[in-house]
Amino acid sequence: MSDKHQIAVLPGDGIGPEVVREGLKILSAVAEKFCISFDLQEGIIGGAAIDKYGKPLPQSSLDLAKNADAVVLGAVGGPKWENLDYRIRPERALLGLRNRLELYANLRPAKVFSTLIDASSLKKEVIENTNIMIVRELVGGIYFGKPKGVEKLEDGNEKGVNTLVYTTPEIKRIAKIAFEVASKRKKKVLSVDKANVLESTELWRKVVTKVHADYQDIELSHMYVDNCAMQLVKDPKQFDVIVTTNMFGDILSDEAAMLTGSIGMLPSASLGGNNGMYEPIHGSAPDIAGRDIANPIATIMSIAMMFKYSFGVDEASEVIESAVEKILQNGYRTKDIMDNSGKLVGTKEMGDLILKEIQEA
Ligand code: NAD
Repeated sequence: MSDKHQIAVLPGDGIGPEVVREGLKILSAVAEKFCISFDLQEGIIGGAAIDKYGKPLPQSSLDLAKNADAVVLGAVGGPKWENLDYRIRPERALLGLRNRLELYANLRPAKVFSTLIDASSLKKEVIENTNIMIVRELVGGIYFGKPKGVEKLEDGNEKGVNTLVYTTPEIKRIAKIAFEVASKRKKKVLSVDKANVLESTELWRKVVTKVHADYQDIELSHMYVDNCAMQLVKDPKQFDVIVTTNMFGDILSDEAAMLTGSIGMLPSASLGGNNGMYEPIHGSAPDIAGRDIANPIATIMSIAMMFKYSFGVDEASEVIESAVEKILQNGYRTKDIMDNSGKLVGTKEMGDLILKEIQEA
């Protein structure tokens, strides 16, 4: 077996290939700096795969991802494929990958860069120094629980049903990830539930508390989801790691993302099974594709997460984060984060600037 890290690259559609190209530049430079060997193999996914193979996740790309230690993904989708049947739309590839790779934990950091503080819609004093990691359960809960669906009733009305289900093993494994992640941060985990009303999240609270017994150096607290939604905009600095269910995490992570200002800045990691998947949280942005104006920082920060969570080289991750901060401090901005005093650069130039900073660090 090779001691090289196997990395599958799935650039996808729209700005996906443009931002992934910049991410790979950074990957090579950092790997060289830290003497990390890797093999890259590229696969086709999303709309591009529909055009070539008639389906969004061809077996060859799935196999590539399954056999890799880590997957770097751009984004999928676009107007060209919008009218296709839901079952073969580009976005189905993402669900397929998450399920088949058993990526049950989605990590979304929401970090406010001091240089971009004015990009947020919230007051500077509320958001400065905010650095939150949301750990969202990704393959269970109400989005998957059965029974589900809409049925006709005898009286002619209809009934829509979704079921919130969690089992002990599902909660245990996500709780462990949250405590592990917190051990590399400020050692604080907040578990978010609705245990006062929903029995399945009463179990959630019980199991998370039990798992905590193995992580005594981590501080654990609990909060109801409605309070957490309010606290996120009132005082986001109080949070370190937030662990929560699939639907609560879906909503809270979007709320937290907006604290930081731009979607082009936010990375993500999906962990679980045997490998990790790293991708920006944004989509394929067809409105700006092919114009060299997309912000590549979300993808570059996703590469930083890969070094930390898949390869365990925290310093490599820190080098990337510092280089990004430095370039922002020096005033360089892509269009989405441009301000009055910024120096406007394109996708490629932003990648080159961060690359140079890393090489010279
Ligand atoms: P989007 O995230 O692609 O774009 C939303 C807005 O943000 C657009 O104005 C876009 O120009 C801007 N934007 C996004 N990323 C940017 C970046 N890196 N730099 C600068 N600006 C950026 O969301 P959308 O427009 O709702 O969806 C477009 C397509 O992407 C759809 O087909 C959708 O289904 C798909 N999508 C895919 C993913 C994914 O692959 N993970 C996620 C969300 C949406």
